[in-house]
Amino acid sequence: MTLGRDPRSPAGPLARLRAAAESRERAGLRRRLRPRTGDHDGLIDLASNDYLGLSRDPRLIEGAAAAAREYGTGSTGSRLVTGTTALHAELDRRLAAFTGSAAGLVFSSGFLANLGAVTALAGSGDLVVSDQVNHASIVDACRLSRARVAIVPHRDVAAVERALAERDEEHALVVTDAVFSVDGDLAPLAELHRVVRAHGALLMIDEAHALGVVGDGGRGAAHAAGLAGEPDVVLTLTLSKSLGAQGGAVLGAPEVADALVDTGRSMIFDTGLNPPALGAALAALDVLEAEPGLPALARDRARRMSGIAAGLGLETTEDPAAAVVPVVLGEPEAAVRAAEICAEHGARVGCFRPPSVPKGRACLRLTARATVGEADLTTLREALSAVVRSTGRSLHT
Ligand code: PMP
Repeated sequence: MTLGRDPRSPAGPLARLRAAAESRERAGLRRRLRPRTGDHDGLIDLASNDYLGLSRDPRLIEGAAAAAREYGTGSTGSRLVTGTTALHAELDRRLAAFTGSAAGLVFSSGFLANLGAVTALAGSGDLVVSDQVNHASIVDACRLSRARVAIVPHRDVAAVERALAERDEEHALVVTDAVFSVDGDLAPLAELHRVVRAHGALLMIDEAHALGVVGDGGRGAAHAAGLAGEPDVVLTLTLSKSLGAQGGAVLGAPEVADALVDTGRSMIFDTGLNPPALGAALAALDVLEAEPGLPALARDRARRMSGIAAGLGLETTEDPAAAVVPVVLGEPEAAVRAAEICAEHGARVGCFRPPSVPKGRACLRLTARATVGEADLTTLREALSAVVRSTGRSLHT
């Protein structure tokens, strides 16, 4: 027995977790779950990923209810056993058609779609090239793939090209977010695709924050970059943001779908997506097709919001490509306090701290919605003005 260990105390392992939590508390890095009411506690929502305001749309609610009435509340099994209903097959097809892809497969989350896609497309003896600020689900997918992983600087196409050119591996996969989830900037997709094509690799693009917001009618960033349907492009997406539902998908060539059905562990060993989420997502696609101007509204609101932050001298993006607007404050405590001030002034905003962002780059993450109105923008201006006053920053730095 190692000195100092008490094998009879079940609290031993928990003491370590407690100590770690206390140290995160001291560093301003504790996270708390805050249950909200259906109306966001009366605050305006500038924090969710409900970019088109569809998550409470009566058409989606009816789509979800109708799907539950016909197929039940759960899918009852893996997609390979009983968990593929006619709604799964329909959404597979509809998402492929919407994004201009040959084939599609719905997963039960975007996280699992990324895990499935990367691990099915790359394995031991292959190379994966991944942007350094890609989403955590991509980071984990790269690790799980057992491929060699080259992390490249953010949006650095030359570094991607070097990694591909200098590789010993025959097969390579380049992975990127389309719209990066905290800074809201766009990946250089056309340039990445040129490099990927020149070096015989595959390009996987996570459209999570681009679908429904970027591109013609919200068809996504790959579509906007002219990459729809390219055989060496694979898309992943989530149904939980602009589509107001829940779930994810992988889109690409038929060979990609076949690989996922045969080897995609996060699909094979996971229960298929629940019918209400499918019904809601299908209804959301109907809404997008009927109202193709919605994505431009969300983008416009994002520009208005970043204009307000910039006008107050806050560090933000000049020209947001999608609906994500970061406001950088630096230290975690400053970001937490700023989010509290915004809530006190009526606006719920996101607050991101390390490890979600680099050290010294803690920020507020404002998200736009197509349904944000003038009164909401006034509330935001007042809230951010109060943040500026509290930090002692000049209004016109
Ligand atoms: N990719 C990106 C870029 C994301 O931001 C997210 C969600 N935060 C996901 C994937 C995961 O999607 P889901 O929430 O559907 O699991």
